[in-house]
Amino acid sequence: MEYKPERQRLLVQGAVQGVGFRPFIYRLAAEIGIQGWVSNSAQGVVIEAEAPLPRLEAFLARIESQKPPHSSIQNIQVESIPVVGTSADVVFEIRESSVAGNRSTIILPDLATCPDCLREMFDPANRRYRYPFTNCTHCGPRYSIIESLPYDRPNTTMRAFVMCAQCRAEYENPLDRRFHAQPNACPDCGPQLRLWDSTGHGMAVRDSALLVAADALRTGLIVALKGIGGFQLLADARNPEAVRLLRERKQRPEKPFAVMVATIEQVKTVCEVSAAEEQLLASSESPIVLLRRYDHDCVCAEVAPGNPNLGVMLPYTPLHHLLMAELGFPVVATSGNLSGEPICIDEHEALTRLKDIADVFLVHNRPIARPVDDSVTRVMADAECVLRRARGYAPLPVELPDALPVVIASGAHLKNTVAMSIGRQVFVSQHIGDLETPEALSAFEHALKDLQALYEQPAALIACDLHPDYRSTHLAQEMAQRFQRPLVQVQHHYAHILSCMAEHHLSAPVLGVAWDGTGYGTDGTIWGGEFLEVGADSFERCAHLRPFRLPGGEQAIREPRRVALGLLFELYGEDLPDLPQLGFSAAELVVLKGALARNVNAPLTSSMGRLFDGVAALIGLCRHASFEGQAAMDLEFACCDGVITRRSYPLNISSISIDWGPMVECILGDLAAGLSAAEIAATFHNTLIEMIVSVAARQKIEQVVLSGGCFQNRHLLEGSIDLLRKAGFRPYWNQRIPSNDGGIALGQIVAAHREYGRRLTCV
Ligand code: ZN
Ligand code: ZN
Ligand code: FE
Repeated sequence: MEYKPERQRLLVQGAVQGVGFRPFIYRLAAEIGIQGWVSNSAQGVVIEAEAPLPRLEAFLARIESQKPPHSSIQNIQVESIPVVGTSADVVFEIRESSVAGNRSTIILPDLATCPDCLREMFDPANRRYRYPFTNCTHCGPRYSIIESLPYDRPNTTMRAFVMCAQCRAEYENPLDRRFHAQPNACPDCGPQLRLWDSTGHGMAVRDSALLVAADALRTGLIVALKGIGGFQLLADARNPEAVRLLRERKQRPEKPFAVMVATIEQVKTVCEVSAAEEQLLASSESPIVLLRRYDHDCVCAEVAPGNPNLGVMLPYTPLHHLLMAELGFPVVATSGNLSGEPICIDEHEALTRLKDIADVFLVHNRPIARPVDDSVTRVMADAECVLRRARGYAPLPVELPDALPVVIASGAHLKNTVAMSIGRQVFVSQHIGDLETPEALSAFEHALKDLQALYEQPAALIACDLHPDYRSTHLAQEMAQRFQRPLVQVQHHYAHILSCMAEHHLSAPVLGVAWDGTGYGTDGTIWGGEFLEVGADSFERCAHLRPFRLPGGEQAIREPRRVALGLLFELYGEDLPDLPQLGFSAAELVVLKGALARNVNAPLTSSMGRLFDGVAALIGLCRHASFEGQAAMDLEFACCDGVITRRSYPLNISSISIDWGPMVECILGDLAAGLSAAEIAATFHNTLIEMIVSVAARQKIEQVVLSGGCFQNRHLLEGSIDLLRKAGFRPYWNQRIPSNDGGIALGQIVAAHREYGRRLTCV
């Protein structure tokens, strides 16, 4: 039989803009023989297709099965509409975007340079030879240049550049790789490089700017480079003097730096690389990957002092590729900021903020719309785990099983991210940082406004932390007042567990193991070694570490030996044993013991992060910490020194308060007996892993969720997963969203929905 033409209207939603989706539809329609048009809208890609039904069906099937590589389809709505019956010459066309309607389109992250663009850039015969802003629909900037939806050139920071005739022709040709590539540019019409000295005086332009910057690096100078999502500070990773200078100027004494390495082959000479790690390094997300390092001259010890791991990334923009090809040796590539401040994105601002750090500035005139740091990942338990989520990942949503009302969450105080839910999608912002400086606070406020401006959705609920003094809490309170919306304050560790449940679509009940440094508890003390039974609507604290005091409060976080003293005081009172490894003077001891005895500035905590600190100090690994998590890292590294032990310390888990006392006594005994730090550290880890399994057995809950910053510790995470599985439990851990406080905003959104959402209508 003959089929009559029918017409359908298709709305395709998901990551479908800026990935060559419309040209793909255009080619497909031409191939199958379909009339109509395709267009971008704020809701997604809209298609009107007219053809006999079997062709329409084939069209739909092939959209789903052959979609472009970086796209992902979440939903296709199909609607029958009246036949138009066009007989014009144009069978199928690509139409101008329409901007009306609710914004729900997914914004793509920035993508690493694709192989085709790379080939063109290194081909002397190509018109983009050595052009550092080469891109196409498969690669290049997205999130870092978009200012509003839909994703079209006038809505990006590329608006100021008028395409030349050749670029325009590529942009308009549906069969070209650069068809509607919004940042499309070439040496004739696009952004250009400049090199400035530290006063902003021009030194060179275009390719010679790059070559002079490379020379500067070779001679041990520090270069500030305007990358894709902000400035990076570069130094020769082989040169201890250069790296020391960078540490001094950046006021970052010990925290490890990441390095950029020219090729995957070179990475393999510096670090151990598994197949999963190699795949991650070469992915279009192109994150920093934490790898186990070898001793090798081309990365000096100053890059990551005392650290068996190294954060490594490959070049991911044409600019990085050109520079690294010129240099051929690894360079330190760290965020362009002073410690504690957000990454700098504007070249004029950089001259002020980075003038005391960098010797020369390699900049360009493509504006960056928002700061997007390099992401950090680690392969643990054979899975990619994102530890800092920014470039390449943000702002792709986490999809939930059910639609939520619009909730805005202000996140945590450290490693802050903010988030917004629209329908089933939660958009978690890029890593913003610790909210401890005025610059960081303004970046945080900016990110909150940015989310609301991009998606233009009024919030039904506002969520924040339970801590009464956090700036993120205050700002959420102000927003709730201003918009007249309910405010939900969410307990920090509950949010950690919910973030992981959301990622894995878990339903209650779960046993949540939330171990981190600090979080405000419902009893007003500092929590952090928590076992939470999460039910359908709420949670119950079913076990926690026995609380101890932190002499000096915040000061104890920077001085793990004070935590050790707090542990000993809790056990022995004023007659605590003499421990020279802590290095306290007699006078200091009197003051600190006095503070503990009188309970002055010595807050109570059940924090696992602090227990790590205290044990690290007790066994002589770390008295003072210059960055968060340093002592815990030392303890993790100590137990990876090839020591295999099945020993563990005694623990009593019969009550809600898990007593670490017998363990600390045994550690002191081991120290007296002359056991190595490696042996004690490994035994300590075994004890914690057994603690998790014992509590899980006591609570009789099959799903065990491991979250909180402590689970960035690979030894702890993998050991826990392993033992839980052997004991018949089902462990889950954060992968796409950080287990550290970068995941809190997601958890807050889920908690707000649990508390209020069911009473409100969903969008
Ligand atoms: Zn490309
Ligand atoms: Zn051009
Ligand atoms: Fe936390």
